[in-house]
Amino acid sequence: MIGSAEEYIERLRSYKREIYVLGKKIDNFADHPNIRPTVNAFAYTYELAKTRDEFAPYSDLVGEKVNRLNYVNKTPEDLMARFDYQRELSKRMATCNYRCTGCDAINAIYPATKALDEREGTDYHQRFLKLLKEIQKNDYACTAALTDVKGDRSKRPAEQRDMFLHVVEKREDGIVVSGAKVHQSGAFAADVNFVLPTQTFKQGEEEFAIVFAVMPEDEGVKYIIQNTGVQAKQREDGEFEPGNVKYGDRTTCMVVFDNVFIPWERVFIFEDLKAARDVLNYFAASHRCAGAACKAGFIDSMAGAASLMLKANGLENVAVLQQKIAEMVAVSEGAYGISIGAAAKGYKANDSWQPNQFMANAGKIIGVEGFTKSLVNLIDIAGGIIGTSPSEFDMKGELGEKVSKYMSASEKFTPEQRMKIVKFIEFWATSSHLIGAVHGGGSPAASLITLRFIMDIEDKEKAVKNCLDL
Ligand SMILES: Cc1cc2nc3c(=O)[nH]c(=O)nc-3n(C[C@H](O)[C@H](O)[C@H](O)COP(=O)(O)OP(=O)(O)OC[C@H]3O[C@@H](n4cnc5c(N)ncnc54)[C@H](O)[C@@H]3O)c2cc1C
Repeated sequence: MIGSAEEYIERLRSYKREIYVLGKKIDNFADHPNIRPTVNAFAYTYELAKTRDEFAPYSDLVGEKVNRLNYVNKTPEDLMARFDYQRELSKRMATCNYRCTGCDAINAIYPATKALDEREGTDYHQRFLKLLKEIQKNDYACTAALTDVKGDRSKRPAEQRDMFLHVVEKREDGIVVSGAKVHQSGAFAADVNFVLPTQTFKQGEEEFAIVFAVMPEDEGVKYIIQNTGVQAKQREDGEFEPGNVKYGDRTTCMVVFDNVFIPWERVFIFEDLKAARDVLNYFAASHRCAGAACKAGFIDSMAGAASLMLKANGLENVAVLQQKIAEMVAVSEGAYGISIGAAAKGYKANDSWQPNQFMANAGKIIGVEGFTKSLVNLIDIAGGIIGTSPSEFDMKGELGEKVSKYMSASEKFTPEQRMKIVKFIEFWATSSHLIGAVHGGGSPAASLITLRFIMDIEDKEKAVKNCLDL
């Protein structure tokens, strides 16, 4: 079904979650100022799904239309529609849509468990399909947790078990897991959180090679909300001071698994090194490619903000500044083009359609460069005020008249309107977005490692040798 924002929020309110902000457990988490914007962002995915047919495809699995982000892609067109949805969400919200990692997990677990069952004669795929049906029928919002805390990066997991999520007990009815995941986007406000490995493992490290789903009823799961500058501003209760009041900073959390019991029906890979590698490879390509489409949407938002700022400053006729906006548009279309190319040039894998691996990883590298360039252009266009401005509260406070007078620029904009644009651009420059662009889906270094591993440089050398008669 295509659910509604209201149904999602109502469900969320019924969940009894252990969520911590600034060291204290919070009540009514859905209305907390650090969480409400994330809830709004999830909610908007439900609204946008209703606006275009391709965002609500028909699923054979349940015999009805489902959200694009809960769908297993079967064709290049499916993947392209997913990237369109992704770009549109990023552009309209200027923040994470949070359901994208869930979509990547669904599209990674599906082919990986199919191959695992064919190899081992197990029933993991059927278990997964049972949950997927439930997800599609109820339009659950899903996220995915991969990144372990990892401790000393030079040590193997077995040398520091607690730094990697692992099995502590195998029971007849399920498994008990322990460990912690970091940087988890929106996990605290999702219905289902898929848990995948953070890396591949060697023989002897099987206890880490697991994939499962966490549901709201699971006990012992603790969420600690990130605290950065924008989070602090969100608690100040301003009307526009945090810059993106409606959808907020892309908010992550640390998730602690304190001996959490997971029933077998929600365990999809258990101590299998090959299947863990497969699921990770599918996830990484899918997420890096979706990230390129997402960055396109973010850059669209930055270009819009840049153009408004030019007008608010009375600079809209300055050619060199307009040209910088054109550069941002070029970068956005380039990143989007990579994701669409990766969808078109993708491949079939166990009844799913996966993006082209080269282009997906290139999307990460080019996307980060493009995002950085666009952010610098935006800062250049906006002026220093986005890093130095007084607050909304000053504008409304004892010196309000003076602050408003000196914050005014073009007559076409009130001082408050200009200040809103300033705060929005300050948000782009100082929120978690740049860091998320660099590290979300793995660092650029991780993409380069993948590219170095899969690239056919001999073929390129051969072309040069032929050219030079070497
Ligand atoms: C805003 C944001 C949102 C995120 N959302 C999610 C999410 O929803 N779900 C999720 O699972 N993850 C999420 N991530 C995590 C993201 O995938 C990781 O940040 C990324 O994979 C890098 O891992 P790390 O932060 O632990 O960096 P580190 O492991 O500390 O790495 C730092 C650098 O060192 C390199 N490095 C690390 N270890 C080694 C080694 N042994 N040998 C050589 N080089 C090494 C890395 O490539 C990187 O360049 C998010 C991150 C951010 C910033």
